[in-house]
Amino acid sequence: MLAAKNYKFWFCTGSQDLYGDECLRNVADHAKIIVAKLNESGVLPYEVVWKPTLITNELIRKTFNEANMDDACAGVITWMHTFSPAKSWILGLQEYRKPLLHLHTQFNEELPYDTIDMDFMNENQSAHGDREYGHIVSRMGIERKVVVGHWSDRTVQERISEWMRTAIGVIESSHIRVMRVADNMRNVAVTEGDKVEAQLKFGWEIDTYPVNEIAESVAAVSEADTNALVEEYYGKYEILLEGRVPEEFKRHVAVQAQIEIGFERFLEEKNYQAIVTHFGDLGALKQLPGLAIQRLMEKGYGFGAEGDWKVAAMVRLMKIMTAGMEGAKGTSMLEDYTYNFVKGKEGILQAHMLEICPTIADGPISIKCQPLSMGDREDPARLVFTSKEGRGIATSLIDLGSRFRLIINDVDCKKVEKPMPKLPVATNFWTPQPNLYTGAEAWILAGGAHHTAFTYDLSAEQMGDWAAAMGIEAVYIDKDTTIRDFKKDLMLGNVVYR
Ligand code: MN
Repeated sequence: MLAAKNYKFWFCTGSQDLYGDECLRNVADHAKIIVAKLNESGVLPYEVVWKPTLITNELIRKTFNEANMDDACAGVITWMHTFSPAKSWILGLQEYRKPLLHLHTQFNEELPYDTIDMDFMNENQSAHGDREYGHIVSRMGIERKVVVGHWSDRTVQERISEWMRTAIGVIESSHIRVMRVADNMRNVAVTEGDKVEAQLKFGWEIDTYPVNEIAESVAAVSEADTNALVEEYYGKYEILLEGRVPEEFKRHVAVQAQIEIGFERFLEEKNYQAIVTHFGDLGALKQLPGLAIQRLMEKGYGFGAEGDWKVAAMVRLMKIMTAGMEGAKGTSMLEDYTYNFVKGKEGILQAHMLEICPTIADGPISIKCQPLSMGDREDPARLVFTSKEGRGIATSLIDLGSRFRLIINDVDCKKVEKPMPKLPVATNFWTPQPNLYTGAEAWILAGGAHHTAFTYDLSAEQMGDWAAAMGIEAVYIDKDTTIRDFKKDLMLGNVVYR
């Protein structure tokens, strides 16, 4: 489900024919060395491919158009080794439609004090040439990332790596298809939105199916297939009967196993990568999908509850952006539920009725079967766990009527002080930066939702860059946030993005 595609990034070096063949040979050799070393570094999640040095308007235009046409190319990295007159780049840049990185580097790390002469300076003048190139990209108003530093520096390589994941988010956003098997919860505002505008801005296809069509797919799952999956659950998770009869408990778990298989077959058959449900619109389903949805999220599907298709698409997007990441700590839908206001221990308990992704779990995962306080179905089985500690980002994409805004909050995930044995759902607990009071105040001023798309594995900068590429507003709530400045950010957004 989440197999990362074999994307590549093109490395295009700019120069011109003013400096003679020897210089151009060196330019090409240097670029090839940089590309090889970047690939050998083990830091980059995707391969960089060297392309012949760009020295004429025609070649620049041709190369950018080839990048557009190549499905495997997820973006272009540009670097001006020498001076490359930037008017040569206008037509190519005008026609280019994929993510762009300007790597502002140079081949040598240190000034060659003893040997430096004018020939060396003319050959190694990216400080000069990259400014000419940067000027035209700015003048043309093209969204791009600029990374500055020596290419061998691990920090520079990590920044390229982070940009690559953002670029994958930009490229893959238009391949996200969300299946709604329920509408938005009655009267709820923040989970609503303009689905046509979402397709225009993000490329998302958001379609509705009658819930009983997917319920039929669930009913069609054989007992043998269901029982095999139940056995897998029983081998993998702790079973917490809490006084229930084992056979009855297992029958409840089997309902979720059948839903998992039936939903996945339906989603695969119809090519959807995200789904929304609603506890009040379950048709022939015997339980609210809990464990089943948790397992689908773990496999890489996006999910939003109560018809929240924006969160479903955002969770899917984050899962694609972090696909194949070594040491990834997880991505899930979460919901701000309840506070701890004790001084020095402030934080927000994150949970949902059931549907939290086990990729964020820390320690053992259990299955519990408990009544839901809402809805009119059987007691659903669900996975219960607590989550990892560490930094993460909570994001909320809201529709303000005339436009979208992405709110991004750096949060510090922590363990709660004591276990909560009576709480039958998975949880996370975090303190928003800069602290609970300012963080929550800013979040509310920005109009942020109670549902969030959360991840440990992306930065605010990456999601902000994604928003910029989509042409929407992003606001950041982090260690530097003050309410006075944040209100100015919102006012500025109201002017720029209306
Ligand atoms: Mn909810």
